[in-house]
Amino acid sequence: MRNREKILVSGGGLAGLIAAVAFGDSGYEVLCIDPTDENKFKKVDLRTTAYLQPSQLFLQKIGVWPLVQHSSTPLEIMRIADIAGEKLTVKDFNSSDISDAPFGWNVRNLDMREGLLARIKALPNVVFETGLSTASTTSRSTMARVTLSNRRIIDCKLLIAADGRDSPIREQAGVAMKRTEFDQSALSFSVTHELPHNNISTEVHKVGGPFTLVPLPDFEGKPSSAVVWMDKTEDINNIKTLSPTAFNAAITQRSGAVLGKLTSVTNCAKWPIISQLADHFFAERTAFIAETAHVVPPIGAQGLNLSIGDIETLLKLAKSSSDDIGSLTVLKKYHKIRRPIAQSRVIGVGLLNRASKADGPIAARARALGLNAIHNIKPLRHALMQLGIGLR
Ligand SMILES: Cc1cc2nc3c(=O)[nH]c(=O)nc-3n(C[C@H](O)[C@H](O)[C@H](O)COP(=O)(O)OP(=O)(O)OC[C@H]3O[C@@H](n4cnc5c(N)ncnc54)[C@H](O)[C@@H]3O)c2cc1C
Repeated sequence: MRNREKILVSGGGLAGLIAAVAFGDSGYEVLCIDPTDENKFKKVDLRTTAYLQPSQLFLQKIGVWPLVQHSSTPLEIMRIADIAGEKLTVKDFNSSDISDAPFGWNVRNLDMREGLLARIKALPNVVFETGLSTASTTSRSTMARVTLSNRRIIDCKLLIAADGRDSPIREQAGVAMKRTEFDQSALSFSVTHELPHNNISTEVHKVGGPFTLVPLPDFEGKPSSAVVWMDKTEDINNIKTLSPTAFNAAITQRSGAVLGKLTSVTNCAKWPIISQLADHFFAERTAFIAETAHVVPPIGAQGLNLSIGDIETLLKLAKSSSDDIGSLTVLKKYHKIRRPIAQSRVIGVGLLNRASKADGPIAARARALGLNAIHNIKPLRHALMQLGIGLR
């Protein structure tokens, strides 16, 4: 199948690249652009992403998963530990309770990026150019006209804005968004540890936000995990200045030593914690996807998974509209389907974050009671697990 309608994807972060591959795989002519030099991604993005079941299936469908599978680690159990109260509370949520497959698979962002670039190379109808950005856009009812930073003009049926949380395209379109600041930041880095992770992802709650360990393949023969440590921005800034020895002691202590002694094996990158939701997920001839449309704190692996849902929906709608992939009808339907889903995630993850960062014995007791209730009431536990991985 060949469909020669031109699509411009503005932004070559993970979401933009996945969109380029997905539409290219369906036969559309796609140009994806990003101003960032490829080497910068290698230096900056030390994160990993847990691809939940629906995302993994979609990546399989568009030919990406076989290229990254070898570097993925399955997540079979999600363990939640609360070390704030007088008593340690630990609850396990096992994927076998609700499915034959793991909850998800953890992949380093750099490995996923490499897989996506390899898939793009294999698609003759997809071009990815770096060192280029969208300078301005105008639209008519039949097409969008995009002027690039090198003054090249691109006319396209559909402009997919994947240009991030501060999206210039969204701003130029005058679409408002609601932003919540949490006065928290996250540190992401990788560690080795004394005890094996046994494919268990562990979220340790105390105060300030969760400390999450997500399994990775062994590193230099030792068990390894990716860490996201969320805490008050002031505390994160102080932690970043610690010497390597003091840093390793601090992370071991904050983890409650659930995996024994932790040793950091990468640099660490700091990310601000916000949530954000655009009022509209479209403008004329333009679809807003991923962080252009929504941002959630990194709890429960929701962010990029939500974005992959955007791409899957937009592709389905485009394919079912035989005549015009960027028509107002398609874009309105996209908005109507995706915005409520994103809104519920922004609200849900925001509440989890507030519960996790709450300080003091009363908050710790409330968290323990809530966790016990969710874990002990089987239908509630199953429903929340299914919701969490996007099966509901
Ligand atoms: C610590 C941390 C851990 C996370 N863990 C998970 C997880 O386990 N699971 C999960 O689902 N999500 C997770 N997330 C969320 C996930 O990482 C993000 O959703 C995702 O990386 C955002 O990708 P994006 O492509 O939307 O945006 P970005 O990566 O910000 O990409 C936007 C791109 O647009 C480009 N751009 C900007 N301006 C222009 C322009 N004018 N023209 C063209 N291009 C432009 C930028 O250069 C950039 O490359 C995590 C987030 C954090 C902070």
